[in-house]
Amino acid sequence: MSDFGMLIDGRRVDAAATFLVTNPATGAVVGAAANATPSDLDAAVAAAQRAFETWSKKSDLELKAACEAVVAKIQEHAEEIAQLLTAEQGKPLNGMGSRFELSGAAAWAGHTASLSLPVKVLQDNNEGRVELYRKPLGVVGSITPWNWPVMIAVWHILPAIRTGNTVVIKPSPHTPLSTVRLVEIINEALPPGVVNVVTSDDVTHNIGGAMSSHPGIRKMVFTGSIATGKKVMMNAAETMKRLTLELGGNDAGIVLPDVDPKAIAEGLFWGGFINNGQTCAAMKRLYVHEDVYDEVCAALVDYARNVPVGNGQEEGAVLGPIANRMQFDKVKRLVDAASTKGRVLLGGKPGDGLFFPPTLIADLSAEDPLVAEEQFGPALPIIKYSDVEDAIAQANATENGLGGSVWSKNVEKAREIGRRLECGSVWINKHGAIQPNAPFGGVKSSGLGVEFGEEGLAEYTDIQVVFS
Ligand code: NAD
Repeated sequence: MSDFGMLIDGRRVDAAATFLVTNPATGAVVGAAANATPSDLDAAVAAAQRAFETWSKKSDLELKAACEAVVAKIQEHAEEIAQLLTAEQGKPLNGMGSRFELSGAAAWAGHTASLSLPVKVLQDNNEGRVELYRKPLGVVGSITPWNWPVMIAVWHILPAIRTGNTVVIKPSPHTPLSTVRLVEIINEALPPGVVNVVTSDDVTHNIGGAMSSHPGIRKMVFTGSIATGKKVMMNAAETMKRLTLELGGNDAGIVLPDVDPKAIAEGLFWGGFINNGQTCAAMKRLYVHEDVYDEVCAALVDYARNVPVGNGQEEGAVLGPIANRMQFDKVKRLVDAASTKGRVLLGGKPGDGLFFPPTLIADLSAEDPLVAEEQFGPALPIIKYSDVEDAIAQANATENGLGGSVWSKNVEKAREIGRRLECGSVWINKHGAIQPNAPFGGVKSSGLGVEFGEEGLAEYTDIQVVFS
Protein backbone atom coordinates (compact mmCIF):
# COMPACT_ATOMS: atom_id res chain seq x y z
CA MET A 1 0.00 0.00 0.00
CA SER A 2 1.37 3.40 -0.87
CA ASP A 3 0.31 6.82 0.28
CA PHE A 4 -0.50 9.70 -2.00
CA GLY A 5 -0.41 13.33 -0.96
CA MET A 6 -1.83 16.32 -2.78
CA LEU A 7 0.25 18.62 -4.93
CA ILE A 8 -0.05 22.32 -4.14
CA ASP A 9 2.37 24.98 -5.36
CA GLY A 10 4.68 22.30 -6.72
CA ARG A 11 5.03 20.60 -3.32
CA ARG A 12 3.53 17.49 -1.82
CA VAL A 13 0.98 18.35 0.85
CA ASP A 14 -0.38 15.75 3.24
CA ALA A 15 -3.70 16.08 5.02
CA ALA A 16 -4.42 15.22 8.64
CA ALA A 17 -6.76 12.45 7.46
CA THR A 18 -6.64 9.96 4.59
CA PHE A 19 -9.13 7.70 2.83
CA LEU A 20 -8.48 4.31 1.27
CA VAL A 21 -8.81 3.46 -2.41
CA THR A 22 -9.47 -0.20 -3.25
CA ASN A 23 -9.12 -2.36 -6.34
CA PRO A 24 -12.65 -3.25 -7.54
CA ALA A 25 -11.42 -6.57 -8.93
CA THR A 26 -10.03 -7.86 -5.62
CA GLY A 27 -11.03 -5.48 -2.82
CA ALA A 28 -7.33 -5.00 -2.00
CA VAL A 29 -6.23 -1.57 -0.83
CA VAL A 30 -4.36 0.27 -3.59
CA GLY A 31 -3.37 3.31 -1.58
CA ALA A 32 -4.40 6.02 0.84
CA ALA A 33 -5.31 9.45 -0.51
CA ALA A 34 -5.20 12.72 1.39
CA ASN A 35 -8.58 13.95 2.59
CA ALA A 36 -8.53 17.68 1.94
CA THR A 37 -10.01 20.31 4.22
CA PRO A 38 -11.44 23.59 2.90
CA SER A 39 -8.18 25.30 3.93
CA ASP A 40 -6.22 22.91 1.68
CA LEU A 41 -8.48 24.02 -1.16
CA ASP A 42 -7.87 27.67 -0.26
CA ALA A 43 -4.10 27.03 -0.35
CA ALA A 44 -4.38 25.37 -3.77
CA VAL A 45 -6.45 28.24 -5.18
CA ALA A 46 -4.03 30.83 -3.73
CA ALA A 47 -1.08 28.99 -5.31
CA ALA A 48 -2.87 28.87 -8.66
CA GLN A 49 -3.68 32.60 -8.40
CA ARG A 50 -0.01 33.43 -7.73
CA ALA A 51 1.15 31.24 -10.62
CA PHE A 52 -1.40 32.90 -12.92
CA GLU A 53 0.42 36.24 -12.56
CA THR A 54 3.38 34.96 -14.59
CA TRP A 55 1.82 32.04 -16.49
CA SER A 56 -0.84 34.24 -18.12
CA LYS A 57 1.88 36.55 -19.46
CA LYS A 58 3.76 33.78 -21.30
CA SER A 59 3.81 34.03 -25.07
CA ASP A 60 1.79 31.64 -27.19
CA LEU A 61 4.98 29.86 -28.21
CA GLU A 62 6.09 29.44 -24.59
CA LEU A 63 2.70 27.99 -23.63
CA LYS A 64 2.81 25.64 -26.60
CA ALA A 65 6.32 24.45 -25.70
CA ALA A 66 5.28 23.88 -22.08
CA CYS A 67 2.29 21.78 -23.21
CA GLU A 68 4.57 19.77 -25.49
CA ALA A 69 6.82 19.08 -22.48
CA VAL A 70 3.72 17.83 -20.63
CA VAL A 71 2.94 15.48 -23.54
CA ALA A 72 6.46 14.03 -23.29
CA LYS A 73 6.00 13.44 -19.54
CA ILE A 74 2.69 11.64 -20.12
CA GLN A 75 4.31 9.41 -22.74
CA GLU A 76 7.31 8.70 -20.50
CA HIS A 77 5.11 7.66 -17.54
CA ALA A 78 2.24 6.06 -19.48
CA GLU A 79 2.80 2.47 -18.38
CA GLU A 80 3.25 3.35 -14.71
CA ILE A 81 0.05 5.42 -14.65
CA ALA A 82 -1.84 2.75 -16.64
CA GLN A 83 -0.96 0.18 -13.97
CA LEU A 84 -2.16 2.50 -11.20
CA LEU A 85 -5.34 3.30 -13.13
CA THR A 86 -6.18 -0.38 -13.58
CA ALA A 87 -5.54 -1.03 -9.90
CA GLU A 88 -7.94 1.67 -8.69
CA GLN A 89 -10.54 1.69 -11.49
CA GLY A 90 -10.64 -1.97 -12.51
CA LYS A 91 -10.48 -1.48 -16.28
CA PRO A 92 -8.15 -3.88 -18.05
CA LEU A 93 -4.65 -2.91 -19.05
CA ASN A 94 -5.42 -4.08 -22.59
CA GLY A 95 -8.31 -3.68 -25.01
CA MET A 96 -9.93 -0.28 -24.60
CA GLY A 97 -8.55 -0.12 -21.07
CA SER A 98 -5.79 1.73 -19.23
CA ARG A 99 -3.06 1.62 -21.88
CA PHE A 100 -5.62 2.82 -24.44
CA GLU A 101 -6.64 5.60 -22.04
CA LEU A 102 -3.04 6.73 -21.54
CA SER A 103 -2.32 6.76 -25.26
CA GLY A 104 -5.55 8.72 -25.79
CA ALA A 105 -4.50 11.16 -23.07
CA ALA A 106 -1.14 11.75 -24.80
CA ALA A 107 -2.84 12.15 -28.21
CA TRP A 108 -5.35 14.68 -26.83
CA ALA A 109 -2.61 16.56 -25.01
CA GLY A 110 -0.54 16.68 -28.21
CA HIS A 111 -3.40 17.95 -30.33
CA THR A 112 -4.34 20.56 -27.73
CA ALA A 113 -0.73 21.77 -27.60
CA SER A 114 -0.84 22.30 -31.38
CA LEU A 115 -3.96 24.51 -31.31
CA SER A 116 -3.95 28.26 -30.91
CA LEU A 117 -6.39 31.14 -30.87
CA PRO A 118 -4.69 33.94 -32.78
CA VAL A 119 -5.92 37.53 -32.76
CA LYS A 120 -8.78 37.92 -35.25
CA VAL A 121 -9.05 41.12 -37.26
CA LEU A 122 -12.78 41.72 -37.64
CA GLN A 123 -12.45 44.94 -39.57
CA ASP A 124 -9.59 47.00 -41.01
CA ASN A 125 -10.73 49.88 -43.21
CA ASN A 126 -11.15 53.66 -43.33
CA GLU A 127 -13.62 53.48 -40.47
CA GLY A 128 -11.17 51.79 -38.15
CA ARG A 129 -9.59 48.53 -37.06
CA VAL A 130 -11.38 46.01 -34.84
CA GLU A 131 -9.40 43.17 -33.27
CA LEU A 132 -10.69 40.22 -31.25
CA TYR A 133 -8.36 38.93 -28.53
CA ARG A 134 -8.75 35.80 -26.40
CA LYS A 135 -7.64 36.31 -22.81
CA PRO A 136 -7.10 33.68 -20.10
CA LEU A 137 -9.62 33.67 -17.28
CA GLY A 138 -7.59 32.95 -14.15
CA VAL A 139 -7.87 29.84 -11.99
CA VAL A 140 -9.83 26.97 -13.54
CA GLY A 141 -11.45 24.47 -11.18
CA SER A 142 -11.68 20.97 -12.62
CA ILE A 143 -13.83 18.16 -11.23
CA THR A 144 -13.58 14.73 -12.84
CA PRO A 145 -15.49 11.41 -12.66
CA TRP A 146 -14.15 7.87 -12.10
CA ASN A 147 -14.79 6.28 -15.50
CA TRP A 148 -11.96 7.76 -17.64
CA PRO A 149 -10.16 9.72 -14.92
CA VAL A 150 -6.78 10.27 -16.58
CA MET A 151 -8.11 11.08 -20.04
CA ILE A 152 -10.72 13.48 -18.66
CA ALA A 153 -8.13 15.18 -16.42
CA VAL A 154 -6.06 15.82 -19.56
CA TRP A 155 -9.17 17.11 -21.37
CA HIS A 156 -9.58 19.68 -18.58
CA ILE A 157 -5.97 20.59 -17.77
CA LEU A 158 -4.37 20.92 -21.21
CA PRO A 159 -6.73 23.47 -22.81
CA ALA A 160 -6.68 25.46 -19.55
CA ILE A 161 -2.90 25.80 -19.39
CA ARG A 162 -2.54 26.10 -23.19
CA THR A 163 -4.55 29.34 -23.01
CA GLY A 164 -2.64 30.76 -20.01
CA ASN A 165 -4.88 29.69 -17.12
CA THR A 166 -3.85 27.81 -14.00
CA VAL A 167 -5.68 24.82 -12.53
CA VAL A 168 -6.92 23.19 -9.34
CA ILE A 169 -8.21 19.69 -10.07
CA LYS A 170 -10.27 17.44 -7.81
CA PRO A 171 -10.64 13.84 -9.00
CA SER A 172 -13.42 11.43 -7.98
CA PRO A 173 -12.90 9.80 -4.57
CA HIS A 174 -13.13 6.41 -6.34
CA THR A 175 -10.08 7.06 -8.57
CA PRO A 176 -7.90 9.83 -7.12
CA LEU A 177 -4.50 8.14 -7.25
CA SER A 178 -3.81 8.09 -11.00
CA THR A 179 -4.73 11.80 -11.15
CA VAL A 180 -2.36 12.64 -8.29
CA ARG A 181 0.43 10.81 -10.11
CA LEU A 182 -0.51 12.54 -13.40
CA VAL A 183 -0.31 15.96 -11.74
CA GLU A 184 3.03 15.05 -10.14
CA ILE A 185 4.60 14.25 -13.50
CA ILE A 186 2.97 17.27 -15.16
CA ASN A 187 4.56 19.41 -12.45
CA GLU A 188 8.00 18.17 -13.49
CA ALA A 189 7.45 20.14 -16.71
CA LEU A 190 5.76 23.28 -15.33
CA PRO A 191 6.42 26.07 -12.82
CA PRO A 192 4.97 25.50 -9.32
CA GLY A 193 1.30 26.34 -8.84
CA VAL A 194 0.24 26.09 -12.50
CA VAL A 195 -1.48 22.73 -11.89
CA ASN A 196 -2.53 21.70 -8.38
CA VAL A 197 -4.50 18.69 -7.16
CA VAL A 198 -6.64 18.24 -4.06
CA THR A 199 -8.31 14.95 -3.13
CA SER A 200 -11.40 14.40 -1.02
CA ASP A 201 -13.62 11.53 0.08
CA ASP A 202 -16.64 13.82 -0.64
CA VAL A 203 -18.05 12.91 2.78
CA THR A 204 -16.01 14.74 5.40
CA HIS A 205 -16.03 17.97 3.39
CA ASN A 206 -17.84 18.86 0.18
CA ILE A 207 -14.71 20.06 -1.63
CA GLY A 208 -16.43 19.92 -5.03
CA GLY A 209 -19.15 22.22 -3.75
CA ALA A 210 -16.57 24.53 -2.19
CA MET A 211 -14.72 24.73 -5.51
CA SER A 212 -17.88 25.58 -7.43
CA SER A 213 -18.58 28.58 -5.18
CA HIS A 214 -14.95 29.61 -4.49
CA PRO A 215 -14.40 33.32 -5.21
CA GLY A 216 -10.83 32.67 -6.37
CA ILE A 217 -11.91 30.29 -9.16
CA ARG A 218 -13.02 31.92 -12.44
CA LYS A 219 -14.24 28.87 -14.35
CA MET A 220 -15.45 25.38 -13.54
CA VAL A 221 -14.99 22.52 -15.94
CA PHE A 222 -17.03 19.61 -14.65
CA THR A 223 -17.52 16.10 -16.02
CA GLY A 224 -19.99 13.90 -14.17
CA SER A 225 -23.67 13.25 -13.63
CA ILE A 226 -26.48 15.63 -14.56
CA ALA A 227 -27.56 15.86 -10.91
CA THR A 228 -24.13 17.02 -9.70
CA GLY A 229 -23.68 19.25 -12.76
CA LYS A 230 -26.81 21.16 -11.75
CA LYS A 231 -25.36 21.70 -8.26
CA VAL A 232 -22.12 23.01 -9.77
CA MET A 233 -24.12 25.41 -11.93
CA MET A 234 -26.12 26.68 -8.97
CA ASN A 235 -23.04 27.09 -6.77
CA ALA A 236 -21.18 28.89 -9.55
CA ALA A 237 -23.89 31.49 -10.10
CA GLU A 238 -22.96 33.84 -7.26
CA THR A 239 -19.43 34.39 -8.63
CA MET A 240 -20.55 34.33 -12.30
CA LYS A 241 -18.08 31.59 -13.20
CA ARG A 242 -17.61 30.40 -16.74
CA LEU A 243 -18.82 26.82 -17.06
CA THR A 244 -18.17 23.80 -19.18
CA LEU A 245 -20.40 20.93 -18.09
CA GLU A 246 -20.00 17.49 -19.67
CA LEU A 247 -22.80 15.45 -18.15
CA GLY A 248 -24.61 12.15 -18.43
CA GLY A 249 -26.23 10.64 -21.46
CA ASN A 250 -28.73 7.96 -22.43
CA ASP A 251 -27.63 7.54 -26.04
CA ALA A 252 -29.88 5.65 -28.42
CA GLY A 253 -28.72 3.53 -31.34
CA ILE A 254 -31.25 2.98 -34.15
CA VAL A 255 -30.77 -0.04 -36.41
CA LEU A 256 -32.54 0.23 -39.79
CA PRO A 257 -33.95 -2.85 -41.59
CA ASP A 258 -31.26 -2.94 -44.33
CA VAL A 259 -28.28 -3.88 -42.09
CA ASP A 260 -26.22 -7.07 -42.16
CA PRO A 261 -26.61 -8.13 -38.49
CA LYS A 262 -23.39 -10.15 -38.33
CA ALA A 263 -21.36 -7.32 -39.86
CA ILE A 264 -22.51 -4.74 -37.30
CA ALA A 265 -22.51 -6.92 -34.16
CA GLU A 266 -18.97 -6.05 -33.06
CA GLY A 267 -19.53 -2.31 -33.53
CA LEU A 268 -22.86 -2.45 -31.70
CA PHE A 269 -21.31 -4.36 -28.82
CA TRP A 270 -18.39 -2.00 -28.26
CA GLY A 271 -20.65 1.00 -28.80
CA GLY A 272 -22.54 -0.15 -25.72
CA PHE A 273 -19.90 -1.93 -23.66
CA ILE A 274 -16.76 0.20 -24.00
CA ASN A 275 -15.28 0.50 -20.49
CA ASN A 276 -18.05 -1.85 -19.30
CA GLY A 277 -20.67 0.66 -20.42
CA GLN A 278 -19.23 3.18 -17.95
CA THR A 279 -18.77 5.80 -20.63
CA CYS A 280 -20.74 8.99 -21.05
CA ALA A 281 -21.27 8.51 -24.78
CA ALA A 282 -21.78 4.75 -24.77
CA MET A 283 -24.88 3.42 -26.49
CA LYS A 284 -27.36 2.91 -23.65
CA ARG A 285 -30.54 1.97 -25.56
CA LEU A 286 -30.71 -0.05 -28.77
CA TYR A 287 -33.73 0.27 -31.10
CA VAL A 288 -33.88 -2.46 -33.76
CA HIS A 289 -36.33 -2.73 -36.67
CA GLU A 290 -38.61 -5.77 -36.47
CA ASP A 291 -37.37 -7.14 -39.83
CA VAL A 292 -33.87 -7.76 -38.43
CA TYR A 293 -34.63 -7.86 -34.70
CA ASP A 294 -34.06 -11.57 -34.05
CA GLU A 295 -30.93 -11.69 -36.22
CA VAL A 296 -29.39 -8.63 -34.55
CA CYS A 297 -30.13 -10.05 -31.08
CA ALA A 298 -28.55 -13.39 -32.04
CA ALA A 299 -25.45 -11.76 -33.59
CA LEU A 300 -24.95 -9.59 -30.51
CA VAL A 301 -25.18 -12.60 -28.19
CA ASP A 302 -22.71 -14.53 -30.37
CA TYR A 303 -20.19 -11.73 -30.16
CA ALA A 304 -20.72 -10.82 -26.48
CA ARG A 305 -20.46 -14.33 -25.08
CA ASN A 306 -16.82 -14.58 -26.22
CA VAL A 307 -15.54 -11.34 -24.67
CA PRO A 308 -13.08 -12.18 -21.85
CA VAL A 309 -14.02 -10.62 -18.51
CA GLY A 310 -11.54 -10.73 -15.64
CA ASN A 311 -9.16 -8.95 -13.30
CA GLY A 312 -7.88 -6.03 -15.35
CA GLN A 313 -4.33 -6.68 -14.15
CA GLU A 314 -4.34 -9.96 -16.10
CA GLU A 315 -3.15 -9.33 -19.65
CA GLY A 316 -5.96 -11.45 -21.21
CA ALA A 317 -8.90 -9.52 -19.75
CA VAL A 318 -10.81 -7.23 -22.12
CA LEU A 319 -13.51 -6.14 -19.66
CA GLY A 320 -13.03 -5.80 -15.90
CA PRO A 321 -15.38 -5.46 -12.93
CA ILE A 322 -17.78 -2.58 -12.40
CA ALA A 323 -15.65 0.20 -10.94
CA ASN A 324 -17.30 0.65 -7.53
CA ARG A 325 -20.04 -0.64 -5.23
CA MET A 326 -22.38 2.31 -5.79
CA GLN A 327 -22.40 1.72 -9.56
CA PHE A 328 -22.65 -2.07 -9.17
CA ASP A 329 -25.76 -1.65 -7.00
CA LYS A 330 -27.33 0.65 -9.58
CA VAL A 331 -26.69 -1.73 -12.47
CA LYS A 332 -28.01 -4.68 -10.44
CA ARG A 333 -31.20 -2.80 -9.53
CA LEU A 334 -31.87 -1.89 -13.17
CA VAL A 335 -31.08 -5.38 -14.49
CA ASP A 336 -33.22 -7.07 -11.80
CA ALA A 337 -36.18 -4.87 -12.77
CA ALA A 338 -35.61 -5.39 -16.50
CA SER A 339 -35.33 -9.16 -16.10
CA THR A 340 -38.92 -9.37 -14.89
CA LYS A 341 -40.23 -7.46 -17.94
CA GLY A 342 -37.91 -8.43 -20.79
CA ARG A 343 -36.13 -11.47 -22.16
CA VAL A 344 -32.59 -11.95 -20.81
CA LEU A 345 -30.49 -12.99 -23.81
CA LEU A 346 -27.14 -13.05 -21.99
CA GLY A 347 -25.84 -12.43 -18.46
CA GLY A 348 -28.33 -10.89 -16.06
CA LYS A 349 -26.85 -12.24 -12.82
CA PRO A 350 -23.88 -10.72 -10.97
CA GLY A 351 -20.59 -12.58 -10.75
CA ASP A 352 -18.15 -12.54 -7.81
CA GLY A 353 -17.47 -9.28 -6.00
CA LEU A 354 -18.07 -6.35 -8.33
CA PHE A 355 -18.01 -8.43 -11.52
CA PHE A 356 -21.10 -8.30 -13.71
CA PRO A 357 -21.14 -10.15 -17.05
CA PRO A 358 -22.11 -8.41 -20.30
CA THR A 359 -25.91 -8.43 -20.17
CA LEU A 360 -28.34 -8.15 -23.08
CA ILE A 361 -32.06 -7.82 -22.36
CA ALA A 362 -34.55 -7.80 -25.25
CA ASP A 363 -38.23 -6.89 -25.59
CA LEU A 364 -38.10 -3.88 -23.27
CA SER A 365 -40.12 -0.70 -23.63
CA ALA A 366 -39.73 3.01 -22.93
CA GLU A 367 -41.01 2.91 -19.35
CA ASP A 368 -38.62 0.15 -18.14
CA PRO A 369 -35.98 1.79 -15.91
CA LEU A 370 -33.10 0.15 -17.83
CA VAL A 371 -34.33 2.09 -20.88
CA ALA A 372 -35.41 5.29 -19.14
CA GLU A 373 -32.38 5.76 -16.82
CA GLU A 374 -28.67 6.02 -17.56
CA GLN A 375 -27.40 2.57 -16.48
CA PHE A 376 -23.69 3.36 -16.91
CA GLY A 377 -22.80 -0.31 -16.82
CA PRO A 378 -22.55 -3.57 -18.79
CA ALA A 379 -26.26 -4.04 -19.54
CA LEU A 380 -27.88 -3.05 -22.82
CA PRO A 381 -31.67 -2.91 -23.31
CA ILE A 382 -32.95 -3.83 -26.79
CA ILE A 383 -36.25 -2.43 -28.01
CA LYS A 384 -38.15 -3.59 -31.13
CA TYR A 385 -39.73 -0.99 -33.43
CA SER A 386 -41.70 -1.14 -36.66
CA ASP A 387 -41.87 2.53 -37.69
CA VAL A 388 -38.65 4.56 -37.77
CA GLU A 389 -40.60 7.72 -36.87
CA ASP A 390 -41.51 6.01 -33.61
CA ALA A 391 -37.87 5.03 -32.98
CA ILE A 392 -36.74 8.63 -33.52
CA ALA A 393 -39.47 9.93 -31.20
CA GLN A 394 -38.47 7.45 -28.49
CA ALA A 395 -34.78 8.26 -28.90
CA ASN A 396 -35.56 11.95 -28.37
CA ALA A 397 -38.03 11.49 -25.50
CA THR A 398 -35.45 12.15 -22.77
CA GLU A 399 -33.77 15.07 -20.99
CA ASN A 400 -30.42 13.61 -22.17
CA GLY A 401 -28.79 14.73 -25.39
CA LEU A 402 -25.22 13.56 -25.55
CA GLY A 403 -24.91 11.19 -28.53
CA GLY A 404 -26.82 8.89 -30.85
CA SER A 405 -26.21 6.54 -33.75
CA VAL A 406 -27.92 5.17 -36.84
CA TRP A 407 -26.94 1.86 -38.43
CA SER A 408 -27.67 1.23 -42.10
CA LYS A 409 -26.09 0.34 -45.45
CA ASN A 410 -27.58 3.58 -46.77
CA VAL A 411 -25.25 6.16 -45.21
CA GLU A 412 -27.07 9.14 -46.67
CA LYS A 413 -30.42 8.04 -45.28
CA ALA A 414 -28.78 7.24 -41.92
CA ARG A 415 -27.24 10.71 -41.82
CA GLU A 416 -30.66 12.27 -42.49
CA ILE A 417 -32.19 10.35 -39.61
CA GLY A 418 -29.16 11.13 -37.42
CA ARG A 419 -29.62 14.85 -38.01
CA ARG A 420 -33.08 14.54 -36.45
CA LEU A 421 -31.70 13.16 -33.18
CA GLU A 422 -31.51 15.71 -30.36
CA CYS A 423 -27.89 15.23 -29.33
CA GLY A 424 -24.44 16.78 -29.62
CA SER A 425 -22.78 13.94 -31.58
CA VAL A 426 -24.24 11.54 -34.13
CA TRP A 427 -22.42 8.54 -35.50
CA ILE A 428 -23.27 6.43 -38.54
CA ASN A 429 -22.48 2.70 -38.24
CA LYS A 430 -20.44 3.30 -35.08
CA HIS A 431 -21.07 4.81 -31.66
CA GLY A 432 -19.06 6.92 -29.25
CA ALA A 433 -16.00 7.55 -31.41
CA ILE A 434 -14.60 10.92 -30.37
CA GLN A 435 -11.51 12.72 -31.61
CA PRO A 436 -9.46 15.71 -30.42
CA ASN A 437 -10.19 17.90 -33.46
CA ALA A 438 -13.99 17.60 -33.27
CA PRO A 439 -15.97 19.53 -30.62
CA PHE A 440 -17.79 17.26 -28.19
CA GLY A 441 -20.61 18.20 -25.84
CA GLY A 442 -24.19 17.55 -24.86
CA VAL A 443 -27.44 19.34 -25.65
CA LYS A 444 -30.51 19.54 -23.38
CA SER A 445 -29.50 18.40 -19.85
CA SER A 446 -26.36 16.58 -21.03
CA GLY A 447 -24.23 19.65 -20.68
CA LEU A 448 -23.21 23.14 -21.47
CA GLY A 449 -20.45 24.09 -23.88
CA VAL A 450 -18.04 21.79 -25.69
CA GLU A 451 -14.58 20.33 -25.29
CA PHE A 452 -11.93 19.70 -27.96
CA GLY A 453 -10.86 21.60 -31.04
CA GLU A 454 -10.66 25.37 -31.24
CA GLU A 455 -14.26 25.65 -30.03
CA GLY A 456 -13.32 23.78 -26.86
CA LEU A 457 -10.14 25.79 -26.35
CA ALA A 458 -12.05 29.06 -26.67
CA GLU A 459 -14.11 28.13 -23.60
CA TYR A 460 -11.03 28.75 -21.45
CA THR A 461 -10.89 32.39 -22.53
CA ASP A 462 -12.83 35.63 -22.38
CA ILE A 463 -13.15 37.76 -25.48
CA GLN A 464 -11.73 41.27 -25.53
CA VAL A 465 -12.43 43.43 -28.56
CA VAL A 466 -10.12 46.36 -29.27
CA PHE A 467 -11.47 49.17 -31.49
CA SER A 468 -8.87 51.61 -32.84
P1 NAD B 1 -20.73 12.30 -10.16
O1 NAD B 1 -21.56 13.44 -10.63
O2 NAD B 1 -21.25 11.45 -9.05
O3 NAD B 1 -19.29 12.80 -9.69
C1 NAD B 1 -18.47 13.57 -10.55
C2 NAD B 1 -17.52 14.40 -9.70
O4 NAD B 1 -18.27 15.35 -8.94
C3 NAD B 1 -16.70 13.60 -8.67
O5 NAD B 1 -15.37 14.10 -8.66
C4 NAD B 1 -17.39 13.94 -7.38
O6 NAD B 1 -16.51 13.84 -6.29
C5 NAD B 1 -17.80 15.38 -7.60
N1 NAD B 1 -18.86 15.90 -6.73
C6 NAD B 1 -19.68 15.21 -5.89
N2 NAD B 1 -20.53 16.07 -5.29
C7 NAD B 1 -20.26 17.30 -5.75
C8 NAD B 1 -20.82 18.60 -5.54
N3 NAD B 1 -21.84 18.80 -4.70
N4 NAD B 1 -20.30 19.65 -6.22
C9 NAD B 1 -19.28 19.48 -7.08
N5 NAD B 1 -18.71 18.27 -7.33
C10 NAD B 1 -19.19 17.19 -6.67
O7 NAD B 1 -20.44 11.41 -11.46
P2 NAD B 1 -19.62 10.04 -11.54
O8 NAD B 1 -20.48 8.96 -10.99
O9 NAD B 1 -18.24 10.22 -11.02
O10 NAD B 1 -19.50 9.87 -13.13
C11 NAD B 1 -20.50 9.27 -13.89
C12 NAD B 1 -21.32 10.30 -14.64
O11 NAD B 1 -20.47 11.14 -15.40
C13 NAD B 1 -22.27 9.66 -15.64
O12 NAD B 1 -23.51 10.32 -15.60
C14 NAD B 1 -21.60 9.94 -16.98
O13 NAD B 1 -22.46 9.93 -18.08
C15 NAD B 1 -20.96 11.27 -16.73
N6 NAD B 1 -19.85 11.51 -17.66
C16 NAD B 1 -20.00 12.45 -18.64
C17 NAD B 1 -18.97 12.67 -19.56
C18 NAD B 1 -19.13 13.67 -20.67
O14 NAD B 1 -18.13 14.02 -21.28
N7 NAD B 1 -20.32 14.15 -20.97
C19 NAD B 1 -17.78 11.95 -19.46
C20 NAD B 1 -17.66 11.02 -18.44
C21 NAD B 1 -18.70 10.81 -17.53
